Amino acid sequence: MQKSTSRKSEVDFLHKRSKVKHILSGSREWQDFSILAKDCFLCFKSQGSILPDSMKSTFLFLMVLAVFSCKTSSPPESREEFIKGVYGNPGTLLEAGYSFDSLGMNAVFVRSGSLDREFYEISKKQGVKVFVEFPTLNGKEYLVDHPDAWPINEKGENAPPADWFMGICPTHSGFKEYRSNQLKEILNEYEVDGIFLDYVHWHAQFETPNPILPETCFCDRCTGAFAAVIDTLIPGITIPEKADWILKNADPEWRKWRVGVLNTWVEDMGAILKEYQPEAKLGVFHCAWYPADYDSALYRTMGLDPVALAERADVLSPMLFHKMKARPTAWVGEYVAWLGETLDVEKKGNPQIWPIVQSHNNPGIVSAEEFRKVMIEGSKAPASGIMMFSDQSLIEDPKKLEVMKELYSKRKPQ
Ligand SMILES: [Zn+2]
Repeated sequence: MQKSTSRKSEVDFLHKRSKVKHILSGSREWQDFSILAKDCFLCFKSQGSILPDSMKSTFLFLMVLAVFSCKTSSPPESREEFIKGVYGNPGTLLEAGYSFDSLGMNAVFVRSGSLDREFYEISKKQGVKVFVEFPTLNGKEYLVDHPDAWPINEKGENAPPADWFMGICPTHSGFKEYRSNQLKEILNEYEVDGIFLDYVHWHAQFETPNPILPETCFCDRCTGAFAAVIDTLIPGITIPEKADWILKNADPEWRKWRVGVLNTWVEDMGAILKEYQPEAKLGVFHCAWYPADYDSALYRTMGLDPVALAERADVLSPMLFHKMKARPTAWVGEYVAWLGETLDVEKKGNPQIWPIVQSHNNPGIVSAEEFRKVMIEGSKAPASGIMMFSDQSLIEDPKKLEVMKELYSKRKPQ
């Protein structure tokens, strides 16, 4: 009898929980909430059954609502220290005779190619977190020996390099295995504070005032995978014929599929990271365009949906390179505010936003004063960290080094 009463309460509880789940559906918050609610439920069960069934149900439902409202109203601020980092090859600062801690830094974001044991040990000794940049869909070195992974444009040709960048076909299984193994090697060798996925986009160039935005990838692998998803035999024999049909007849589905391919990359790399080092953060560097910029190229061409990225990553790092993109310094703070609102991070508490800002002098010259402004703009709420690019620019201009040191001596740049 006791058992069946408990069972009934549990059924009632689950029924009511499913209503709340419906409200939260699609949100990562549901996962946290579910754990909290489960804990409360177990706690309640362990107290024994002292309430009549009707009250028990009401009590449980109120408890669910209480957990829900607590979770949604608590601000994410300041459980962790504000991240103050340098991106690139920060070892050049050590070589120039500086130490990270004396510059006020508490983090380095090192390119995986610049990571070595000596750098890692010194960084840890100086008390800074080590985040490793991972060149996810940068195809340059892999394409040398694997031309079948080249991204194909709508004419059926190999897409030419987009300025200095060469992307890759993201459905090439050999390439994904290659990157997965590289990631595992890093994680076997180093205990990292996080992995930051870089170049998470289809072949394109966005780090210039005039972006290069080709249509890719129409290789047989990609169009075949897309055809399977939409369950349609794509008419045409040649690649240009198939590409033409897709762009004229299934454009929204094609864009959505492309976004999904990148989301899967983030999930797969994230799964490896969490399997090897569950505490490490998964970050994503991403193009900082507004959705309507360049004829909606963020979604349509780059294949990026910031909301979907936020559901899969612990940290988003918008690349707020104002000089490269010919934007005013105020744009940096405006974008951070927009991203925070769009992702509702104040309420949800995730993901964290750690912008990367420009000090680097190519393209253009960034003055020390301009650098100060973008550091302050990029640190505005809801950002919980910031990093600057690049270490080289600090060594070239001691005034910029002084700016960073002064700003990083505070809790956060302001
Ligand atoms: Zn392809």
